[in-house]
Amino acid sequence: MQYLKSFLLLLTFNVEYYLLHYKYLINNKLYIVIISALKSNDSKDNRSPIHLDTIGALLSLEAKIMFEKNIGDGIYTTNEQFKKAGLEESERNECLQNSDLIISNQPLKEEELNLLKPGSTLLGMVDPFNNQSMLNFCSERKINVVSMEFIPRITRAQKMDVLSSQANLAGYVAVIESAKYLSSALPMMMTAAGTLKPARVFVIGVGVAGLQAIATAKRLGARVEAFDTRDVVEEQVNSLGAKFVKIDLGVTGQTDQGYAKELTPEQIQKQKDLQSEVCAKSDIVITTAQLFGKDAPKLIDSQTIKKMQSGSVIFDMAVESGGNVEGSQIDEIVIDNGVKIIGFSNLASFVSNHASLALSNNFNNWICDFYDQDKKNISFDFDDEIIKSSVLVYDGDIKNERFK
Ligand code: NAD
Repeated sequence: MQYLKSFLLLLTFNVEYYLLHYKYLINNKLYIVIISALKSNDSKDNRSPIHLDTIGALLSLEAKIMFEKNIGDGIYTTNEQFKKAGLEESERNECLQNSDLIISNQPLKEEELNLLKPGSTLLGMVDPFNNQSMLNFCSERKINVVSMEFIPRITRAQKMDVLSSQANLAGYVAVIESAKYLSSALPMMMTAAGTLKPARVFVIGVGVAGLQAIATAKRLGARVEAFDTRDVVEEQVNSLGAKFVKIDLGVTGQTDQGYAKELTPEQIQKQKDLQSEVCAKSDIVITTAQLFGKDAPKLIDSQTIKKMQSGSVIFDMAVESGGNVEGSQIDEIVIDNGVKIIGFSNLASFVSNHASLALSNNFNNWICDFYDQDKKNISFDFDDEIIKSSVLVYDGDIKNERFK
């Protein structure tokens, strides 16, 4: 009898401990993991990290999915719609305090990170180059951090590549916005009232954003030229029907991840001098040149701007990482010598519905690929190239050498 009593006592204790620490009883359903999606804490960011069209992937994990109230405001999706899809509405603090996995478009502040449970994981666009202190704090508090900016550029990871999915839309937005501020139409028009010449668009930097900018400007009927220091893109430019501007800068090249290598000051000067003639005859110049983890190269200076026609437009897509254009300002249109220099930021947010759909798919793909259904948790296998690259903090350690 005494044995039986002790056994039952032990059993009750174990079950309670288990429920308290590993499982959650909600509406009589037993959940093992709580995943929460947070509303963007930047009022200019209309995107949502979850989207009704992609939420099925998360729901299939049999986890409890919570969302911060009003998360869908920027994509015209109501709390009711998310609830109807099977998600639970919560206040921000409740999401932070109770979740095993937090999904966020933006980095979180220390006071919010303080609310997270040790052992929980923050996954999202955490802007690590500008948030070293956040990484240190998370490592002290044993909060794991997955930076979606660090998804490696390998075929298997393309479905998780947030930089590409958002840059693609940004390239489209840059052309549409530039067209809005140009006082001419983009396509050629032969009318009884005269022939209107097509606008000339020059794209500097032909990565993901640049390629989409070329494709969009071509679809609108513009005459498009483009330049990149990586000469491997010449073929891609030609295949879109645009003309590649040849500027010989000597040895340039790219990293094993496909990013451009930094030019010497002499090479930059040569590039500026030679491309200024193309800028002078262009109606729209779109600059997208970036260097991963570094300031963007300054490629258009006031001397080039002086040569340009009054009324023409320069769209500086690199404005958030220092800018390619002298005088460009974040979220402003600066007018210099009659040239409109546009510096709008977070361009993907201009098409927030599509941006959220793509972003949520990127996040879901990471989660689903590394979610272990048996253990009901993320499997952090550091032999996997994607985990190794994207997990910056794990179990109290800063894993990525750049941020140690
Ligand atoms: P990015 O945003 O870092 O830079 C934009 C472009 O600016 C790049 O093409 C770069 O070469 C160019 N640039 C840099 N300095 C310049 C200068 N001084 N003048 C002119 N151009 C300059 O690049 P990104 O869009 O992220 O993509 C870089 C490459 O990686 C592309 O070729 C892209 O197709 C490739 N990529 C591969 C994968 C994959 O394999 N999974 C995924 C995404 C991108």
